[in-house]
Amino acid sequence: MCGIIGFCGMEGSTERAAARVLEGLRRLEYRGYDSAGVAAVCDGALVVRKDVGHIDEVDALQHLGALVGDIAIGHTRWATHGGVTQANAHPHTDASGRVAVVHNGIIENYLPLRAELESQGVVFASETDTEVIPHLISAQLHNGHPALEDAVRAVCARLEGSYAFVAVSADEPDRMVGVRQGNPLVVGFGEDGAYLGSDVLAFASKARTMATPDNGEVVVLARSGVRFMDGEGREVEKERRPVDVGWTETDRNGYPHFMLKEILEQPEALLHTLEQDDALLMDVAVEILRARQVVFTACGTSRHAALIGRYLFSHVAKKFSDVVMASEFGYFSDSIDRHTVVIAVSQSGETADVLDGVRLAKEAGAHIVGIVNRPSCLLVDESDHVIRLNCGPEVGVAATKTFVSQLSVFYQLAFAMVNRLGEARCDLQEGAHRLDILLHSLNGSLQELAWELREKEHAYYIGRGINFATAMEGALKMKEISYVHAEGMPAGELKHGTLALIEEGMPVVAICPGDETHEATVGNAIEAKARGGRIIGVSDVESEVYDDWLRISRVPPLLYPVMLVPPLQLLAYHMAVERGCDPDRPRNLAKSVTVR
Ligand code: GLU
Repeated sequence: MCGIIGFCGMEGSTERAAARVLEGLRRLEYRGYDSAGVAAVCDGALVVRKDVGHIDEVDALQHLGALVGDIAIGHTRWATHGGVTQANAHPHTDASGRVAVVHNGIIENYLPLRAELESQGVVFASETDTEVIPHLISAQLHNGHPALEDAVRAVCARLEGSYAFVAVSADEPDRMVGVRQGNPLVVGFGEDGAYLGSDVLAFASKARTMATPDNGEVVVLARSGVRFMDGEGREVEKERRPVDVGWTETDRNGYPHFMLKEILEQPEALLHTLEQDDALLMDVAVEILRARQVVFTACGTSRHAALIGRYLFSHVAKKFSDVVMASEFGYFSDSIDRHTVVIAVSQSGETADVLDGVRLAKEAGAHIVGIVNRPSCLLVDESDHVIRLNCGPEVGVAATKTFVSQLSVFYQLAFAMVNRLGEARCDLQEGAHRLDILLHSLNGSLQELAWELREKEHAYYIGRGINFATAMEGALKMKEISYVHAEGMPAGELKHGTLALIEEGMPVVAICPGDETHEATVGNAIEAKARGGRIIGVSDVESEVYDDWLRISRVPPLLYPVMLVPPLQLLAYHMAVERGCDPDRPRNLAKSVTVR
């Protein structure tokens, strides 16, 4: 994961590059936040400052923004190789300290490269895979490729894995060189300089236009201008496109956490998801109907949304589909062919596991439909059709508003398949209105419930039919931000083993809307209660079995997940706060999972 950023001030610019980089790092922190660092080049010297902690903590210790110079690079880390230590934080340098690199991704062949460099006498300062890069660049600079851009290109030929990195050298104090292979890197053009970043958010408020290097292309940001080169070193023309200004707003607007803001703005997000191109939805609906098989691929919360999408396609359009976890997709690729539609769902559009599956499916001739939130991302380039959620940036690491937005897109697609798109949109509009009322009326009682439950270490979530995935999603939220062990499962499965774990006071969240599943789920809740479970009913229908009743609004049965998941997100949020956890920065997680 990790966030990387670089700023190169134009000739005549007086801006301190490190200050810009620090600002960008704060906007990229959602990508990783276990350590951070900045390197700046000034008067032929390279200075690196880095440490363990969140950006503000590292800045307080190391004064990152105070580094002088017109050229600076920065990194916010989510460790993959090597523990969370100051030595493993980026930027990494060569032995002379004159070349520095920030890197996102994994160098798969770093062990043999490291062994080769060590046999030549290189002493490593960290345990990371990244550190081979500055040492290899240094070797190239001294052996036939004296220009940084040529050295970077030569090093890329030796690297295996997926990466994006930016390098600077004290000997070329007027430039930085970036390259990507499989991981994201975008260039932003500002008024007084140019940026390199993992995500447009890094510079969205500063740059008006942007461009994306292709895989294997090298980009040089020099004080005199920006150049792109292909893998052979030939200059290539790059089209610049405007930065989407709707994507720049990342303020908490007075809320204590982004997650709370994003949960409460779900009704508005739902309305934005209705801003779709009808012709595009109809084209995708026809592709799905025509396909011999339809397979969703996604991870985490997006996979839970896909499980609900699958029910919607079946109930509304009588179209069977399957959901394959993205990290397992490759093992099913034998049965993907040109009669298959693959629906790839990823908030960031850069989830490595999803992209791997999509590339395999494309090779097999499948038609790819990408469902993304981020306006420019790798999945867009790989897809035949792209549907955007249009719900704006989601900064909280735990997905919330993108989940209900994905449900809205599936709902619209399912109804588009039977020519009832207008009806779907009316349902969703009405649903958004009801959700707004619901969230504001439930927030206080959810906070009280979280306070009562704050010392619990386990919880079970049960639901049936379309809301089996609702139970899974509620449990995932609880796990990821409040670190309570939570399991979601089809209610009917409880008696096949898990009931053995239900004891006095164990929270059992029973998702029992007033639909065809109600009676059976209440029956399973009664079984759990008989073993001492504390039943938290999430329902529009009262029942004696509930110890706590989270009363939701009545909606058409297929819209229940939209109404049921947000209260579960709020419960997880308040649990995290009551337990002293930071819901915006859960441990061991980052928002864009760009590693396998
Ligand atoms: N592999 C690098 C590290 O562990 C970068 C990690 C990443 O991009 O997530 O520091």
